Amino acid sequence: MANGQAAQPVTEPVHTRAPYWQDVPDEKWMDWRWQMSNRLNTVQELERVINLTDSERRALDSKGLFRVDITPYFVSLIDPDDPHCPIRKQVIPTDKELVPFQSMMEDSLAEDKHSPVPGLVHRYPDRVLMLVTTQCASYCRYCTRSRIVGDPTQTFSRKEFDDQIAYIERTPQIRDVLLSGGDPMVLAPKLLDMILARLRAIPHVEIIRIGSRVPVFLPMRVNAEFCDMVQKYHPFWLNIHVNHHKEITPELAAAMDRLTRAGVPVGNQSVLLAGVNDSVHLQRKLIHELVKIRVRPYYLYQCDLVEGSGHLRTTVSKGIEIMEGLRGHTSGYAIPTYVVDAPGGGGKIPVTPNYVLAQAPGKVVLRNFEGFITTYTEPTDYDPTEILAQEALIARRPEPGQEGITRLLAGEQMYIEPAGFAETRARGGSEHRLRSSDIAQKWQPLGVGAIDHAQERVALEAPKEE
Ligand SMILES: *Cc1c(COP(=O)(O)O)cnc(C)c1O
Ligand code: SF4
Repeated sequence: MANGQAAQPVTEPVHTRAPYWQDVPDEKWMDWRWQMSNRLNTVQELERVINLTDSERRALDSKGLFRVDITPYFVSLIDPDDPHCPIRKQVIPTDKELVPFQSMMEDSLAEDKHSPVPGLVHRYPDRVLMLVTTQCASYCRYCTRSRIVGDPTQTFSRKEFDDQIAYIERTPQIRDVLLSGGDPMVLAPKLLDMILARLRAIPHVEIIRIGSRVPVFLPMRVNAEFCDMVQKYHPFWLNIHVNHHKEITPELAAAMDRLTRAGVPVGNQSVLLAGVNDSVHLQRKLIHELVKIRVRPYYLYQCDLVEGSGHLRTTVSKGIEIMEGLRGHTSGYAIPTYVVDAPGGGGKIPVTPNYVLAQAPGKVVLRNFEGFITTYTEPTDYDPTEILAQEALIARRPEPGQEGITRLLAGEQMYIEPAGFAETRARGGSEHRLRSSDIAQKWQPLGVGAIDHAQERVALEAPKEE
């Protein structure tokens, strides 16, 4: 600021609303509970504010469709006459949703397989995903958890929260808990407060975060009470979910202003969606508008192989093309990491254009975003062991069974083989002096695996349940 003073809070904006709600008093319109109880989900209700296409009407009238519900605020962002409106495609179904596609799955990320207790997904070494509700403020047509989301009978009970928290308490490697759902921000404020308090009381939980689309569907929920509540649990982080710059309204900007003033670092996760944001230029516009409201783009997801999302999927090459158009072309701060969440449950896999063109001892050939090709000369006297004394001063964080390629690099293992690899290659052959087991050490590479972390692993293993 030129005068050296802190920026003034963003003033309360002119409210974004469709003409149908013109006469609703501001206090009601800005009340998140009013928004929640006045959501739209039928042809009749939606036709009050937008002109539905035949395809949308057919989908809305069909059975077995993933839940529809849209807040009056969010539906007001839709262009009532444009069937290609990017906001509309995210929340209003068309009959394309009913079309199956190859590799489509119900639980494409195999989350239910990685749940030690219902609703808790422990896939990575040091962090967990805690699903606390199946309810959302509005429902995204491509939702990766549509198998449970929206269904009130699938939601979690107090007993399940207790089990989830008990698992985190007895698992000391968990240093980061991510609350998601459904949407944690639609929980009753007292219940959310209670869950956060219980997590904060666990000594090994370092950071707590929430992934929520409520700020986008219902920015009025990010009120002073909410900001005061989450401030008690710092370090507390929040990720929102914006896909298109039209979602960045004065209301969202004001909500992000309140939240960041409460000390909450805010990130954004987008999903790459055909006809919504699958363009380099639209993605640039989106991330520029995000950093203007102090939201840091975090992930850009490839759309999952989930039922109903077929028509919204893009190729992976489109994602790579978009990343090519961002890196170097705009602020590094504004660039998300493009990830494919591995079907079958492998977790998030970053996918980027290639910048390393060639390597030889002592040389790496790289190219930049402009196509300029350069050589980096590596030191010939680099000693990677010099740091070991410093490394020894801190506690290692073992990752039992999940070290992956780092284990190969650390010289603890020579190769990684698929299950059944040895048996397949033996092709049923019988015992022979060349293969006899008493000379198995002939396959033991000298020096590999000399560092034994088995003991650390035992130390970190969760105590057994009584
Ligand atoms: C995305 C995700 C996380 C968090 O991953 P980060 O890369 O740390 O943001 C944790 N657990 C599961 C199961 C996830 O899908
Ligand atoms: S807000 Fe998130 S959980 Fe809810 S429907 Fe959208 S993508 Fe699914």
